[in-house]
Amino acid sequence: MRSPSLAEIIEVIERRYDPATAAEWDRVGLVVGDPSARIERVLFAVDPIMVTIDQAIAIRADLLLTHHPLFLRPVHSVAANSWKGALAHRLIKSDCALYTAHTNADIAVPGVSDALADALGIVTKGALTESGLGRVGRIPEPMKLRDFVAKIRASIPISAAGIRVAGDPERLIESVALCAGAGDDLFDEVRVSGVDVYLTSDLRHHPITEALQGGAPALIDAGHFATEWPWLAQAAQLLISDLEAIGASVEVEVSNINTDAWSNV
Ligand SMILES: [Zn+2]
Repeated sequence: MRSPSLAEIIEVIERRYDPATAAEWDRVGLVVGDPSARIERVLFAVDPIMVTIDQAIAIRADLLLTHHPLFLRPVHSVAANSWKGALAHRLIKSDCALYTAHTNADIAVPGVSDALADALGIVTKGALTESGLGRVGRIPEPMKLRDFVAKIRASIPISAAGIRVAGDPERLIESVALCAGAGDDLFDEVRVSGVDVYLTSDLRHHPITEALQGGAPALIDAGHFATEWPWLAQAAQLLISDLEAIGASVEVEVSNINTDAWSNV
């Protein structure tokens, strides 16, 4: 099958992840690249940082598709002596495009939280919020919080910071709310959903302490990178099948480099 142009890939991707559905503060879409370029290989990664850009160039990818944006605030320069400018230069010099699908991929169906749910065998029944963020669902068989955490540990990448749990490890859980990535601003919706456990990342002391009062769900912080990473394989598979439908194909690779910022020293 023929190799698609970058413009064709973007058209296919944006049918899944409509840029118009991204949050107002978000910046998604094509960051670097020529829409008329032919694309033969695509690398999927969570973060557009030097290590994943180096990986894209090493495997001769023509496109790096990331979840997180490179530029979120306006810039007046991409000079190579700034770190983001250096990334842009490296991409352009290596003929590698960069494209971002962020909050538009979060609320898409299937989207980032669906991929996390699938990785853990959670059967989802809808979004956690009206704007389409997060998911609520059930574990097929009730299990102890302790065993659910073990399942998470075996199913997604784990950062050096590990998995943090708030709640009785022996507590039996069945209903689940989850939000891949940072989700500590969704506690109100989680409480209304009445679930047994909330799985997300980037939880802070004060919101957790307040959320845990009065029959609250158990909380699991499994790391930002780790909870978003399952989406990469889902997005890669969708790209393959969507391109096939228009008679085109690319090779895809999912980055296995754990770009979680935390480490143990
Ligand atoms: Zn994120």
